[in-house]
Amino acid sequence: MGHLNATALNEKGTSVAVGAGAVWNDVYGYLDGFNLAAAGGRNGLVGVGGLLLGGGISHFSPRVGWACDGVVGYEVVLANGTLANISTTSHPDLYRALKGGGNNFGVVTRYELKTFPQGNMSVNTFSYDVSQVGAVFDAFNDVAADPNFDPYVSLQAGLLYSSAAKAWSVSASAYYTKPVLHPEVYSGFEALPSISNTSSITSVASLAAENPTPPLNWLFATLTLGTSSETMLDIFKTLNGSLYDFNPAGGVTWNFAFEPLPSVMLSKSAATGGNVLGLNPEDGNAIVLLFSALWPNSSSSDAIYQQGRDTFAAIEKVAEGKGELRKFEYLNYAGPHQTPLASYGADSLNFLRHVSKKYDPTGVFQHKVPGGFKVW
Ligand SMILES: Cc1cc2nc3c(=O)[nH]c(=O)nc-3n(C[C@H](O)[C@H](O)[C@H](O)COP(=O)(O)OP(=O)(O)OC[C@H]3O[C@@H](n4cnc5c(N)ncnc54)[C@H](O)[C@@H]3O)c2cc1C
Repeated sequence: MGHLNATALNEKGTSVAVGAGAVWNDVYGYLDGFNLAAAGGRNGLVGVGGLLLGGGISHFSPRVGWACDGVVGYEVVLANGTLANISTTSHPDLYRALKGGGNNFGVVTRYELKTFPQGNMSVNTFSYDVSQVGAVFDAFNDVAADPNFDPYVSLQAGLLYSSAAKAWSVSASAYYTKPVLHPEVYSGFEALPSISNTSSITSVASLAAENPTPPLNWLFATLTLGTSSETMLDIFKTLNGSLYDFNPAGGVTWNFAFEPLPSVMLSKSAATGGNVLGLNPEDGNAIVLLFSALWPNSSSSDAIYQQGRDTFAAIEKVAEGKGELRKFEYLNYAGPHQTPLASYGADSLNFLRHVSKKYDPTGVFQHKVPGGFKVW
């Protein structure tokens, strides 16, 4: 798909057509020149194709919703080989199913994405000694739980554990989608004793243009929590207890990123025709946890998968015990043992099955496409 990477703004500049094989660097690099942006991945090397089919958390999500909510049209090759243009007015059922339904419905060849004015933004990075972990979670939760969630916030609190060094590091990547140095909303992070604390202004395109991630083995899993720094701390203690002495051949780096999932973000989808994620703004602010492991030595893979599954089950139990586990599993962060489409709820899953049977009655995308999460 990589050659289908063209980008073209419409005449009024209100939407951009993007080839489905583009990466986000292509999109931001193009739109920056017009002082515009579209909602997409934060890392510029991630593909437009997969991110938009699974939802998509962007820097702009509290302002404009999931990245998939910003898709105003799809060009899709259907199971019978025909090329179709999908929008709210043409194939509205398929239009909604593509917003979170993954690779079950067709090969998307082009997306039409809504654009919005966007200048530079601010990048605030903090790193802390692990002794500060509880205070960092408190600062994170103060932002994430705020009923008046600041729509310019784009925040991640990160925990990294290197099995070889037996060392944790704690960080906050606190972006703000306005060019404001040291935004007030992050004063809780500023107040803590840090190892480093930087604030700078940059363009969306330069921020996305990260170095490529090393070609290591990679495991993802995810869960969604209510906003509770106490639960985050209990999760950290469980992770530490479970992972501290596990050091397979070649080592493994565990990476845990907590990200706000505010109601204000979920409230945006209704205006754009809805998605299938089954999330309700009335459920209140939440937090998505991306649980991941990276390791170089493939001979350690079985041991790491097993350790990852056991550790993940332990933290899920902690969240459940605290009454903070939500049902949603974000598809783009989900592991192979998870069932993100079922986590959307029975109504969404039945809808996805119905749409799949309508547009792909013989199950081409169920049986002939490897990978992804299937609806049948
Ligand atoms: C370094 C890194 C940073 C990330 N940052 C973010 C982030 O900021 N926000 C976020 O929400 N997620 C993020 N993710 C997760 C990301 O959304 C998923 O990994 C997603 O699957 C990436 O899509 P892709 O097209 O690059 O991957 P691929 O592996 O190519 O595709 C993923 C799935 O989508 C299907 N697919 C891809 N293109 C098409 C198409 N054109 N038509 C039909 N099916 C298709 C594939 O069959 C596959 O099942 C990140 C991941 C990484 C590795």
